[in-house]
Amino acid sequence: MTAIQSIRIAERNALAGDGKITKTEAKGLLALATTKEAKAALRDILAHDSFAPGAAKTLTKAAGKLDEKTSSLAGMKLGTVKTNGANLDVVVSKELSPTAGFADEFQAYGAARASGVTPTTVIKDGNTPPRWHAVQTNITVGGKGYAPEKTKLGEVTAMPRAPTPDDFKRLHDDASATRKAFQASGTDANRKAAEAASVKLAAATFGIDPAKIHPMKNDTDILPDKINVTLEIAHGAAYFGDATTNVEPLNTDGTVRSPHGLVVNPVDFRSVTHGAGTLAHEATHKEHHDLGNQVAKEFHDSKTSKSFSDWMKTRKPKLTGDQRDMISEQVANKATTQTELSAYINELAATVAAYPAGDKEAVMTYGSIKSRLGALGNDDKKTLKALYDALDEPHRTEFEKYLPKPG
Ligand SMILES: [Zn+2]
Repeated sequence: MTAIQSIRIAERNALAGDGKITKTEAKGLLALATTKEAKAALRDILAHDSFAPGAAKTLTKAAGKLDEKTSSLAGMKLGTVKTNGANLDVVVSKELSPTAGFADEFQAYGAARASGVTPTTVIKDGNTPPRWHAVQTNITVGGKGYAPEKTKLGEVTAMPRAPTPDDFKRLHDDASATRKAFQASGTDANRKAAEAASVKLAAATFGIDPAKIHPMKNDTDILPDKINVTLEIAHGAAYFGDATTNVEPLNTDGTVRSPHGLVVNPVDFRSVTHGAGTLAHEATHKEHHDLGNQVAKEFHDSKTSKSFSDWMKTRKPKLTGDQRDMISEQVANKATTQTELSAYINELAATVAAYPAGDKEAVMTYGSIKSRLGALGNDDKKTLKALYDALDEPHRTEFEKYLPKPG
C-alpha cells in the first residue's frame, strides 16, 4: 500500500466516527505522510475536512502552504436530527467541492453524487452572487432530512441516499420500457408514463428534487434554470444547447441569445456515477454560457469604445484568463475546445474516486482531456494539478498512463 492510499483510508476512518479528525487521528495521519504526494494529500485534507479544536495544527507544519483556502463549511452545524429520543447534531465533516464553491447549482449536485460518498448535502452559501457547495455530513439521516439550524447560508438541502445498483437498474429498466412504449405508440398516457419514469430516474441519479427537473414536450421546450429531460433517443446522454441542440454564437451588440438549457437523456446513463458526472460536465457548459451572456450584456451596456477583448481585461470583478478564453470562444463560435476541456476536467474530478481505476468511463474522460490539452488555461492547470495531488493509488498510476503528470 502506498503512503497516499494509507492516508486516504485513515482519513475516511477518522471522519466516519464523529465527523471530525481528532488530535490523535491527526497524529496518525502525520505519521503516514512520508512522501511528497502524501503531503499534498495532507494539504487537501486540511483545506476540506473538519477538525477537533487544535487538531489541524498537528498537520500544518508538515503539509506546508495550502493550495486553496480552508473550507468555511467544514465543522459547521447544519441541523439536528432526533433519533431514539436523542437530539444529534448534523455537521459538515468534509467539503466535496472546491472550497470556493461552484457558480452553478447543478455542478454541486453532480459533484456530491458522483463522489460516491454518503450522506451528502448541497449548500447555497450567503455570498452575492451565491456559490454552491457539496458537502459530506457526519450522520446518515432518514428521508425527511434534518431540522435546519439557523445559519447565514442561503439554502441547505440534504440529499437522499443514492440508489443501489439494483435500484438504479430497476428505475432504468422502467424508464427504458416506458419510453419504448411511447415511441411505439405516442398516446398521451404513454407519454405521461415515459416522462414520469425518466424524471424519477434522473431525480434518483442526481439526488435532486424532481421539481427541478422538466420533462420536455418537444425539442424547443427547454427551461434555462431546470434540468431538462428529453425522450428523444438521438441525443446521447446529455447536451447543453438551444432548441436545435446547438449553442448560438454570443453577440456583443445587445442581441440576446435564445434560451439555452441543460438537457439529459437518463436512459443513456450507465450508473449513478456516470449520470452525476455527466451533470457536472454539462453544468460547467451552463456556467460558461451564463457568464458569457452576463459579460456581453455588461459590455454592451457600458457603451465603451474599447474592443470586447480589451474591455474584458478591465471588467470587474476580474475575469480569469480561462474565463476570457471561454467567452471569446463563444463569440467566435468556432470552437468549444476550452469549455469542453474544463467540462471534462470537472467531470473527472467529480467521478474519479468513485470509478475503479481503469474504468471505461474514466478512461474516456482522460482521452477527452488529452485531445484538448493544448488549450489548457491556468485555472484548468490548477484544477488538474489539485486533482492529481488528491488521487490515491491506483488512480494516480492510471492518471499517469493517459495524462502527463501536471507540473
Ligand atoms: Zn461537453
